[in-house]
Amino acid sequence: MTSDRDTIFALSSGPPPAAIAVIRISGPRARVALEKMLGRMPEARRASFGKVVHPFTQDVIDEGLALWFPGPHSETGEDTVELQVHGGRAVIAAMLDALAGLDGFRLAEPGEFTRRAFEHGRMDLTAVEGLADLVAADTEAQRRQALRQLRGSIAEQAEAWRLRLIEARALLEAGIDFSDEDDVPKNLAREALAIIRRVADEIAQADRGHGERLRDGLQVAIAGAPNVGKSTLLNRFARRDAAIVSPYAGTTRDVIEVHLDLASYPVTLRDTAGIRPTDDPVEQEGVRRAWQSVTLANLVLWVLDAREAPAGAIAAVAEDTRLAQSEVWLLANKIDLVEPGRRVALDALLQAPRRFAISAGTGEGMDALVEAMGAFAGRFFAAETVLVTRERHRHMLAAAAAALALDQAHGSEGREELIAEHVRIATRALERLTGRVDVEDVLDVIFREFCVGK
Ligand code: GDP
Repeated sequence: MTSDRDTIFALSSGPPPAAIAVIRISGPRARVALEKMLGRMPEARRASFGKVVHPFTQDVIDEGLALWFPGPHSETGEDTVELQVHGGRAVIAAMLDALAGLDGFRLAEPGEFTRRAFEHGRMDLTAVEGLADLVAADTEAQRRQALRQLRGSIAEQAEAWRLRLIEARALLEAGIDFSDEDDVPKNLAREALAIIRRVADEIAQADRGHGERLRDGLQVAIAGAPNVGKSTLLNRFARRDAAIVSPYAGTTRDVIEVHLDLASYPVTLRDTAGIRPTDDPVEQEGVRRAWQSVTLANLVLWVLDAREAPAGAIAAVAEDTRLAQSEVWLLANKIDLVEPGRRVALDALLQAPRRFAISAGTGEGMDALVEAMGAFAGRFFAAETVLVTRERHRHMLAAAAAALALDQAHGSEGREELIAEHVRIATRALERLTGRVDVEDVLDVIFREFCVGK
């Protein structure tokens, strides 16, 4: 059984071999590690250089820096030690082995340092989520949003609403106490309702944002008939070395994904199976999935072969009701193969917004396409207020807003106690948002996202 009273330790830096390894220790016996392995207690919060020895063999494991953060003013709120040694596998193995041998010490579980920070009130729940997002952030925009959340932008806002609702409730209750004095309760209730209405409006505003989008990225699907050059286009994007974040093959054989950083926005580009009428059941399944990707995408790049009757193909796409809800851009591909004589007519046809002449093969026209996509991503994400970044936040805010909405339609006359109860429910939802109350059910889900040592 693991216990909160254990002193935990873990490698907090990246996997070996590395130049430096950071080993973190937190818990009531953290100071024992320093006494036994460094031979002394360094000054608090100051880097101190020394030999690190194995506590049982007295063998020198390495030389390194030791940092001592006595609780409660540490990251976890407990006594904390950080040891920086060389990042070789054998060094790390020896260090972890030495620590594991100390009485009351054990290896930390994923996210356990952060969990202790939360449990000791060093972080609220939204900050924990922000930290998880910060560690996972791939692009600048994601990093900024995560940092805002880590620093408490949503928590501060929720706390401000909570305090105003508590004030509204106090007014209502005062009104109930004075119910035999004619105008007093009425005026107090009116004041309370005004506060409630303003808070309800502000919550509704915040809830309208889609901070989640920035976590998930802009979803772009590449679609079109077989052999028009969809895979070649995806590879062309993937080869723009500066832009690439992490290319990997999807798990299904007909959907390949590439993750890009476009103008600092996260973009997921998805290749799909060629779309055409077919009797082959396997291909039918590919086509079905292709349509699914298309309808879920925020932007569809519909690829045509520039040599094959592009006017007809453009018209067909424009008339396809399945695409009516989507932002669809037409890419006339393989322009390197179009005869010079036909090029003028083609260019005239493509002189319109959302139409591009490209060659995925040679790269011609790609700069303009990438630039347009970057601008589109900017508009897509600019529509966001970045307060709400998770479904869990939306859920709690919606619960608060719903409770407060119950009183908008009615007057307050004789309903003070009911209104006070609704305000209490809304306050509770805001407290759950920041993790003040009722957190057990969400904790495991949230901390599962962390790695060991965080
Ligand atoms: P998909 O079935 O739509 O994914 O098409 P592919 O990407 O597999 O391309 C089909 C064929 O067209 C391949 O032989 C490609 O090399 C070729 N191709 C794709 N794009 C271009 C292009 O811009 N120019 C030329 N010349 N060939 C291309």
